[in-house]
Amino acid sequence: MADIPVDEIIRSRRKTISLMVTSDCRVIVRAPMKLSQVRISQFVSARQNWIAKTVEKMKGRPQAVPHAYTEGELFWFLGREYPLHFVDDDQAIIERTDRLCVPRAYAPDIGRHIRQWYVREAEKEIRSRCMWFSMMTGYSPASIRITDAQKRWGSCTHKGGLNFSWRLIQAPLEIVDYVILHELVHLRQMDHSPRFWKKVEELMPDYERRKQWLRENERLLRI
Ligand SMILES: [Zn+2]
Repeated sequence: MADIPVDEIIRSRRKTISLMVTSDCRVIVRAPMKLSQVRISQFVSARQNWIAKTVEKMKGRPQAVPHAYTEGELFWFLGREYPLHFVDDDQAIIERTDRLCVPRAYAPDIGRHIRQWYVREAEKEIRSRCMWFSMMTGYSPASIRITDAQKRWGSCTHKGGLNFSWRLIQAPLEIVDYVILHELVHLRQMDHSPRFWKKVEELMPDYERRKQWLRENERLLRI
């Protein structure tokens, strides 16, 4: 398979073969346990053009710029941009006004402090939104945890606990809400079957638009 740009082949007890390009341009094939390498190659070869086009499209999506923590640099919070502003007061703590005000005394550890601030804010905001949706749907998680996940914005444990990445708090509230609702519905329906999506749609009729936003902008959240 030398000329075929497949990064990973995941075999499982599925019956069909599928191909995807992740947002970081990795090509992943999902295939049944015993499907021959030759068949996989044929399947992928026949879709070379699609792969190339999709990789191009993914590369064109917006991407987070690594932070240098300089005055005026932009930080996202609930879908809005806040320029970083250093304050000279040693007693101050991080505060979000129309800017993200950070004590200069935090240097050289500014990145860590800002991350901790995001975690705290995510904890408050996500917990309260989760409670709200829990009340609305009657689905209640056993626990809510904020994680450091890079790509999994939300996940659900089989003990009925929900995990959310602090990075999600950078996204607009309606996107945060979508991820929360998605995970809450998993408490009843663990897979991504049509039944799962039907339930999501019942509770959030415009979920597809929000899901699409996340697909296109998720790289922005990977700080
Ligand atoms: Zn899911």
